[in-house]
Amino acid sequence: MTTSSELFQRAQQLMPGGVNSPVRAFRSVGGAPFFTKSAQGATLTTADDRELIDFVCTWGPAIHGHNNETIRKAISEALNKGTSFGTPNPYEIEMAELIIDLVPSVEKVRMVNSGTEATMTAIRLARGYTKRHKIIKFAGCYHGHVDSLLIKAGSGALTLGNPDSAGIPESLARETIVLPFNDPEALENAFASYSDQLAAVILEPYPANVGLIFPKSGYLQQLRKLCSEHGAILIFDEVMTGFRVSAGGVQQHEAITPDLTALGKIIGGGLPVGALGGKAEIMDYLAPLGPVYQAGTLSGNPLAMAAGIASLRMLEEGNVYQRLEIMGEQVREAIQTASKESGIPLQIPQVASMFCIYFSEKPVENLDDATDTNTDRFNKFFHTCLENGVYIPPSKYEANFISTAHQQGSIDQACDVMVEAIHSL
Ligand SMILES: *Cc1c(COP(=O)(O)O)cnc(C)c1O
Repeated sequence: MTTSSELFQRAQQLMPGGVNSPVRAFRSVGGAPFFTKSAQGATLTTADDRELIDFVCTWGPAIHGHNNETIRKAISEALNKGTSFGTPNPYEIEMAELIIDLVPSVEKVRMVNSGTEATMTAIRLARGYTKRHKIIKFAGCYHGHVDSLLIKAGSGALTLGNPDSAGIPESLARETIVLPFNDPEALENAFASYSDQLAAVILEPYPANVGLIFPKSGYLQQLRKLCSEHGAILIFDEVMTGFRVSAGGVQQHEAITPDLTALGKIIGGGLPVGALGGKAEIMDYLAPLGPVYQAGTLSGNPLAMAAGIASLRMLEEGNVYQRLEIMGEQVREAIQTASKESGIPLQIPQVASMFCIYFSEKPVENLDDATDTNTDRFNKFFHTCLENGVYIPPSKYEANFISTAHQQGSIDQACDVMVEAIHSL
């Protein structure tokens, strides 16, 4: 048997940092990553034959657990008919109908292959539609590795200490205005200063690549109002929160209607899928109808569509969100009790099946607050959990996910491990 450490040795000779996506490398928590050889339900099996209860859920997509039978069957049926056609296929229509049905603001949709492609296209479309250049984003929000958006970004970039990536021309960066999240005054000021230059505002309505942050009451409404008044496109990046917070995402949960929505992760059922959707009038600016170019050789791929359709259909069955919420609350209550009993101060924001543990005395409202939380404690907590069979994201800036496959047994077991880990800090 080849161990994780042997595999990582080889991988480092072949791939930068031994990984194909930076956060997987465990650089912020220290140590070497494990390799996974298979995954089933709520469990990962490592190359070292360890079984881990997984709260990363492939960074969000696996809301139905790993290797879900229904999704696997859907892929396998599609596989019998061919892997890619390069022409329109019927799955694309079914997928579009589902998305338009589930996500309140979406009237038309374009399928892409990743969340990054969805946000990249959203920005280009907003610029093409408004004939303006500047965009507002928020510190700590991550929108994939799009040049214009990789400025004060969260997630991996933040974890590795370079929220501003090298390789992005200053001339481009100048078109991106970065504001602190949850600061109504900063928002008013930016709109006053840039009014008719603003093409779009893009945000994660619940920033979840900086842990998990909720907007203050009225903040999203203020944003919607300012965008409408100034003719800027409001883009919700719901790549993570879409189909996760509710079937219709944060926009349904908070009853706010964005102009464009970026989707990804759950929408692919574990295969590489993203989507951009929104008002028909704006979406029709995309080629071939409109002047904004966007394309994709494998976009709308039948296997990926089949997996995504199966994943979305299952969200409508069997009280999925209610079951997930109950598990989310159980974790939050267990961690809160452990905090009180151990005297270790922490915050555990939770909504539906997402949660994050910040080792901090005060609530986290923006990037600065998240940065100020205790990194040493988080890293120790991470490693203690991992040693005891529970895999949480390897960075204090990431959200945890629960799947329907976690069920009572894994949740009880994981809570015991996390509670013990807090007591041992
Ligand atoms: C993961 C993520 C992305 C990027 O999606 P990829 O599929 O990794 O390109 C964009 N926005 C948000 C909010 C995300 O969580």
